[in-house]
Amino acid sequence: MTNLLNDAWELSPSVALRPEPFGALAYHFGNRRLSFIKRPELVSVVTALADQPDARAALVLAGVSPEQWPAYSSALRGLAAADMIRRRTSGTPRTQSNTSPDAQPAAGRTGTASGGLVKRFEYGLAAPICLTWELTYACNLSCVHCLSSSGRRDPRELSTRQCEAVIDELQAMQVFYVNIGGGEPTIRPDFWHLLDYAVSRRVGVKFSTNGVRLTPERARHLAATDYVDVQVSLDGATAEVNDRVRGPGSYATAMRALDNLAAAGFENAKLSVVVTRENAGQLDDFKAIADERGATLRLTRLRPSGRGADVWDDLHPTAEQQRDLYEWLLRSGEDVLTGDSFFHLAGYGESLPGLNLCGAGRVVCLIDPIGDVYACPFAIHDRFHAGNLLSAGGFAQVWRESELFTELRSPQTSGACTGCAFFDSCRGGCMAAKFFTGLPLDGPDPECVQGHAADALAAAGRTVPRPSQDHSRRVPVQIGPRPAAPPVRACAESPLAGLVVSSERGL
Ligand code: SF4
Ligand code: SF4
Repeated sequence: MTNLLNDAWELSPSVALRPEPFGALAYHFGNRRLSFIKRPELVSVVTALADQPDARAALVLAGVSPEQWPAYSSALRGLAAADMIRRRTSGTPRTQSNTSPDAQPAAGRTGTASGGLVKRFEYGLAAPICLTWELTYACNLSCVHCLSSSGRRDPRELSTRQCEAVIDELQAMQVFYVNIGGGEPTIRPDFWHLLDYAVSRRVGVKFSTNGVRLTPERARHLAATDYVDVQVSLDGATAEVNDRVRGPGSYATAMRALDNLAAAGFENAKLSVVVTRENAGQLDDFKAIADERGATLRLTRLRPSGRGADVWDDLHPTAEQQRDLYEWLLRSGEDVLTGDSFFHLAGYGESLPGLNLCGAGRVVCLIDPIGDVYACPFAIHDRFHAGNLLSAGGFAQVWRESELFTELRSPQTSGACTGCAFFDSCRGGCMAAKFFTGLPLDGPDPECVQGHAADALAAAGRTVPRPSQDHSRRVPVQIGPRPAAPPVRACAESPLAGLVVSSERGL
């Protein structure tokens, strides 16, 4: 790249910038990359670019001394490589601005965060980076490991209008995107409307689905829509392995959905796999399924949350499989996404890509179908309930002021992990996994790869908390000991029972 300081630049039109105490987060809705602009001074330069004839003028305006220009030039180059800023086709500035930001050397990086930045994340952000919103507990499947014990719709589910109000609030908070899940979110008759509504408000949507409603027509519609990403769940690279966990016919449904997306030209869909004892030997096969369809493989960790608690003993990967998974992930690098869910494997030595941080209540949270807010999607329990967004103050107040989130953002003790050589990267592992196996929250992860949880797991009198709520209906597949629950009311028989098809918006 030639001297970029001579050129006229601007923020890319697909990028949103969100101020944070450390500087800003920049999110690109096209390539879905997140960049951390680690100093307020660099934010001032970036926001001044569009109003100045060239980048040098933006630096001068921001009061950056010439000896600091190389550092700023390098930071801007990083942002340009991620398409966060781009050259202006016309050298004419948008307007003339007399704002006078101060400046210091800074660096923007894409997708990674330094130790200092991670520390800032521990104290929480102005809004979540990764917000999961479960639109419904209704589901056409009954996967044995469902983290939210889904099946039946909750009659108190948020209405269309309430969902729109949530989206409006997320837009006001500059939440770049929401991960929408369930249950099976596409079962809601207003799902496609809510998706379009979010896109129209510039709130990106990543939604997880078992594929049941991803027809060729829907796939074409999605392929033509910016701001939308799709994750299709599959837990076996063969029908035999998948359907034992997710139910008969679910493999065919997911593969059909992936094929429909590929045929429609949807770029870079995600193939989402929960790694279990049964599929841990199929990682290469999963990768091939994704590659053949232009999709990206995303692996996540099995947690003992929801119905997952009943099957965790039987399904969580063996110690040998964990080691193989770790080596496989190291070899794959950033070609395979993990949602940062395997950072406990850093106990083997080298860290995997990601924040390596339990983000619960700090950068992550969950909104459930009735508007309850929890610290994380895997922590649906009264212990991690932060509030309800229908209360005065809405979601913003819950996120910023709830007692639970304040507690989670305060310095944590390392308990029995104190002295472990890997604590800085492993950090004692996953809070939810510890809680739902009855282990102390300040101790080792139940899958501690150094074996430090073995005694605690074997201890007599360990109490395993039950989920605070359960929307399961009759389970056609069963691996763990859970007996099939009898239906308790109409919506136990059908996930759609009680759903008003014509909503307040007439959809
Ligand atoms: S509790 Fe576990 S799953 Fe939730 S954010 Fe923390 S590490 Fe991730
Ligand atoms: S002892 Fe704690 S910090 Fe060390 S590897 Fe085990 S879980 Fe991680």
